[in-house]
Amino acid sequence: MEFSSIRGQFPILDQEVHGHPLVYLDSAATAQKPTCVIDAVSDFYRRDNAGVHRGAHELAARSTLAFEEARAKVARLVGADSGEGRDEVVVTGGATASLNLLATAFGNASQGRGGKAAERFALGPGDEIVVSEAEHHSVLLPFQELALRTGATLRHFGLDDEGRILSADAGQVIGDRTRIVAITHVSNVTGAITDLAPIVARAHEVGALVVLDACQSVPHMPVDFHALDVDFAAWSAHKMYGPTGVGFLYGRRNLLEALPPASFGGSMVELAFLDRPARYMDPPARFEAGTQPVAQLIGAGVAADWLMDLGMENVAEHERNITDRLLRLGDIDGVRILGPTSPEGRIGTVSFDVEGVHPHDVGQFVDSRGIAIRVGHHCAQPVHRHFGLYASNRASTGVYNTPQEADALVEAVSQVRHFFKVD
Ligand code: PMP
Repeated sequence: MEFSSIRGQFPILDQEVHGHPLVYLDSAATAQKPTCVIDAVSDFYRRDNAGVHRGAHELAARSTLAFEEARAKVARLVGADSGEGRDEVVVTGGATASLNLLATAFGNASQGRGGKAAERFALGPGDEIVVSEAEHHSVLLPFQELALRTGATLRHFGLDDEGRILSADAGQVIGDRTRIVAITHVSNVTGAITDLAPIVARAHEVGALVVLDACQSVPHMPVDFHALDVDFAAWSAHKMYGPTGVGFLYGRRNLLEALPPASFGGSMVELAFLDRPARYMDPPARFEAGTQPVAQLIGAGVAADWLMDLGMENVAEHERNITDRLLRLGDIDGVRILGPTSPEGRIGTVSFDVEGVHPHDVGQFVDSRGIAIRVGHHCAQPVHRHFGLYASNRASTGVYNTPQEADALVEAVSQVRHFFKVD
């Protein structure tokens, strides 16, 4: 795999920032877009733009076809089914929207909506929802709110010293009353890949549903939801080289069929009346109220195809080499990696603390050399508390990064404490 040619497909990377070539190490926040994705969105608006699943005209037909083809491509990337009434991928506005959709639908089921079929999603006092200390707020908060709404109890997996989820505790953390386990596949702070097998096995043993946050895994490694045996999963297109404004909820087909809707309006109803409740459409339409993000999904489909052409094993291998170099940050005096310190079992999202220097100062110092990293709590405060911090610095890789860029960051960070006179 020749990764040097890939970089040329990202026009945004061909620029200088503060007189230095741009080094973009913030792909965990959002990835840059290859020309094929940018062109697909622009071509759609130039040639085909129309609302989908309605209207008898040619542009509506073309848009609908392209929309459903894009859904199928995204499904293929994650090993999900699509087409002919088997669709397992719901199109949403992003991972946060997907997780809120799910938590709201479970809440609706808990209030008796969705009839007998939805009873398996219903929660009440004494039931338990399990998360982990590593969760992004977009997982923690919707499920915490669900617990508050239903009277269920929120429990969590703890982390080891390197920030790995303590999956071996599954037998104690997941109990007979656990109904939902909502857990991250890869932490957006530590980069650690969760050992899911013991968690999924235990959850299913007690009849609980597993909801996976796949935001940080899908763009970086091979992911197959059937093989992982999870029940639901959420992720965003913009981190996998697709457009912003679109994301996905995967659900096993039989579960999506039983799940009540969470938001209501156009495009999701078969029959609507003034004097009796509506009859809603089958999934995925039941969960896609309103005008869909058509151009964005088409861009995401192109991104999914592009990633599959590269091969996710190749992507993982390429990024592993860069991760190896980024982890040299841990060799700098006063710098601590918040996460696994070897490239095994992790991705190239490397958070670090520079003793005595505020993350915003670190961020600005490296930015002055054209290097883009993220600073703050990365929407994951509990994991920072685990490390005794409120905020950190985070470098994160994409397919376009080079080992030399990782070296440039390490070199810049090695000067930070001296510059701020804390060494
Ligand atoms: N989970 C994780 C692990 C993430 O990294 C993010 C994005 N930072 C999200 C959830 C939420 O994704 P989005 O902001 O695209 O909805």
